[in-house]
Amino acid sequence: MPLHCPACGKTNDAETSPTCARCGCDLGMLQAIRACAAWHLASAAEQMQRRDWHEAIVHAERSWHLRKSAAAARMAFLALAAMGDTRNATAWHAISGDLSLPS
Ligand SMILES: [Zn+2]
Repeated sequence: MPLHCPACGKTNDAETSPTCARCGCDLGMLQAIRACAAWHLASAAEQMQRRDWHEAIVHAERSWHLRKSAAAARMAFLALAAMGDTRNATAWHAISGDLSLPS
């Protein structure tokens, strides 16, 4: 999984080393945050399958706060739409359509 160094901007392979290949910056905390965001996103998907919309939105929003991804925004949209909260679902839909977000 590519990981951009916040210090120098180099794209690193997070699977091979916890430090930036160019400047030596410790990327371990960033890797941990990404892993936590992925865990919350997977938990949101599990809650969607159980039709627990409220828990799904909680996990989707936690994932979003850790990593602004289109996948987290889409999950929040789906959970809110399932709950019938069209106003907030529409807002998440607009965010999820932002093509500059990572997937
Ligand atoms: Zn670097």
